[in-house]
Amino acid sequence: MFLPPPRLTLEQRSQMLQKFWAAEPVVSPITGRSLRTFYVDRAFNPQVVMVGQGREHYRFDQRPRQIVYSQGHLKTMIRSAKERANPVCPQDFQPLVSKRTPAVRFPVEWDWHFVCPKCLSFGSWQYTDKADEAAKKPAAPKKEAPAFHDETIPLPKRMEMAKDGDLFLKLYAAMAQTDCTACGYDCEGYAKALSTGAEKNFTLCVPGKQETESLLKQLLTGAGLVK
Ligand code: SF4
Ligand SMILES: [Zn+2]
Repeated sequence: MFLPPPRLTLEQRSQMLQKFWAAEPVVSPITGRSLRTFYVDRAFNPQVVMVGQGREHYRFDQRPRQIVYSQGHLKTMIRSAKERANPVCPQDFQPLVSKRTPAVRFPVEWDWHFVCPKCLSFGSWQYTDKADEAAKKPAAPKKEAPAFHDETIPLPKRMEMAKDGDLFLKLYAAMAQTDCTACGYDCEGYAKALSTGAEKNFTLCVPGKQETESLLKQLLTGAGLVK
């Protein structure tokens, strides 16, 4: 039987990938049958591949890998969207596809959904009137992030701000500051892990690109943690 390569919506693709990363079975939106799924792990262009029957098969570029946006990211995205600026994906800076629907119980407010067309990361925000209250109540005494923890400050300026700090602080300043978790930590956590030697791989900051990577290497070499 000939099955034309189906065209799926961004939403469908994002959901299929979410199932894959959650280690749940993925069913074909076309045939309703399970797909065989696997991850092609390679430095250049890693992909998730899903194979169905006949010619049905899908490939998802996964550099960077799909994430679910945090509440903090969503707040920033909604702010941009409201200011008619294009919200972008914190991992690869692709303009996001945003959808807003009227909030169910609050007709003047909106619920939001964002999907990245490149890495298929996504996140949803439901408006509640509790949001501001919750924000006012500090959940845990979280220490203030350093002033350089702001992705809009260029790298040289951030390094200047951290110049009197220790290795950890300098590594922290070298990160892209989006807390996107693509490295498997937040920015602070990744810097800490590198500074203690617990993490050896300094190439994990996806949004920092070559700029961050070179600087991390330089700092770690200077400290004798990388040869
Ligand atoms: S250090 Fe990690 S969390 Fe921070 S921007 Fe880079 S990849 Fe994202
Ligand atoms: Zn993305």
